[in-house]
Amino acid sequence: MDTFASLREIQEKLQSGAVTCVQVVTSYLDRIEKHTHLNAFLEVYHQEALQKAQQIDQKISDGTAGRLAGLVVGLKDMLCYQDHSLQAGSKILSGFESQFTGTAVERLLHQDAIIIGRQNCDEFGMGSSNENSAFGATLNGIDTKRVPGGSSGGSAVAVQMDMCHISLGTDTGGSVRQPAAFTGIIGLKPTYSRISRHGLVAYASSFDSIGIFSKSLEDNALILEIIAGQDEYDSTVSRSAVPEFSSIKALKKCKIGYIRESVETEGVQPEIREKTMEQLELLQQSGHQVTAVDFPLIEYVLPTYYLLTTAEASSNLARYDGVKYGYRSQHQESLDGFYKNTRSEGFGNEVQKRIMLGTFVLSASYYDAYYTKAQKVRRLIKDKTREFFDSFDFLVMPTTPTTAFELNKYADDPLEMYWSDLFTTPASVSGNPAISIPNGFDKNGLPIGFQIIADDFNEQGLYALSREILKGREN
Ligand code: GLN
Repeated sequence: MDTFASLREIQEKLQSGAVTCVQVVTSYLDRIEKHTHLNAFLEVYHQEALQKAQQIDQKISDGTAGRLAGLVVGLKDMLCYQDHSLQAGSKILSGFESQFTGTAVERLLHQDAIIIGRQNCDEFGMGSSNENSAFGATLNGIDTKRVPGGSSGGSAVAVQMDMCHISLGTDTGGSVRQPAAFTGIIGLKPTYSRISRHGLVAYASSFDSIGIFSKSLEDNALILEIIAGQDEYDSTVSRSAVPEFSSIKALKKCKIGYIRESVETEGVQPEIREKTMEQLELLQQSGHQVTAVDFPLIEYVLPTYYLLTTAEASSNLARYDGVKYGYRSQHQESLDGFYKNTRSEGFGNEVQKRIMLGTFVLSASYYDAYYTKAQKVRRLIKDKTREFFDSFDFLVMPTTPTTAFELNKYADDPLEMYWSDLFTTPASVSGNPAISIPNGFDKNGLPIGFQIIADDFNEQGLYALSREILKGREN
């Protein structure tokens, strides 16, 4: 069966009887089967998805189907789905099953979406290449010698290769936007607190956000509309009204700023610079005001991000002690030894490194020098970002400094890997909403991403500008 461009197309075909929901699910299952070598799924809910499809076919003929009937969704292995295994890409959660379904997933199910499986990711969301998964790397569908990005690599590849229509991932410092750029699809990180974190495995709680992968912009907006908004299980969720994201508004002429360094730095791959400049020119030609700006704090963003996220991670991951959840070491000579062995055997290297770094920056003698200082810098970055949006509507830049890199490229140089987060971490440190949309290809045919950042809670603006850009490209 052919692939579907949008949920609307699926639903029209379901309504007219051209296809059944069972056939739709079967077509995704077939493609999952065909692409197992990419290692995108850790588990596929084969029978269950087909059964659910049968029920939805019935609902469609009864006229009682929900808004997402016919939608097939994959979940990053960081999102709770009741009675289903959940491991956060880690050995330490071996054997763990979710006791409840998280709010975002619950809202999808309520509208008759079908969950098709659990997707590979970097352990606890820590990584930019999906190589830190306890279950092996996910491969990029466009070139299997290359990474798909991370940490939500499996979720991106699943949408890229039409193994599901939508994936929910998580974005703490770019984990939805960066893999979306590397695989040539759309990835949204909404404003921090737009979507409930109930049922999302915590990595760095003041940064963590559920994000949405799709090929269709309209579908991305519809999913956000359905999963966003107040939730009694997460008191940090914003009470701001959830607009009707799915009716994407036309855009007025607006003021767009781009960070000069993001296109002028040598470190940015030449084709990415060219494509970004081309896009900026197009925007200018269509009547928007496009200005280069300096963002003097940009060099502090990455260190601030890695100090604060490791600190929060060291605290969040303290709960995995072998007593309450998952993996338990067989070497249990003493209580201390038991904890140590469980955590040393259960966590991978990257996670252990970050727990140690985080513990260090939170330790009594270094707390003020690192943690407090990083918090202060975060505040400055937020203030500067706010100031920026007093005079501009959007901040744009490439999503990543390079296109998808080869597997193992940074195996001996993890710091280099952190640089790939250079352009995605600003919106994570400030909490602003950001989207990555496709922006052509490099000379090897690898996708390039264009990132748009908006003022807090202006996801509508992100969708409006994205639509204008994507439409422009069709013509
Ligand atoms: N690559 C970043 C990190 O390792 C971002 C990860 C994420 O957004 N979950 O922290």
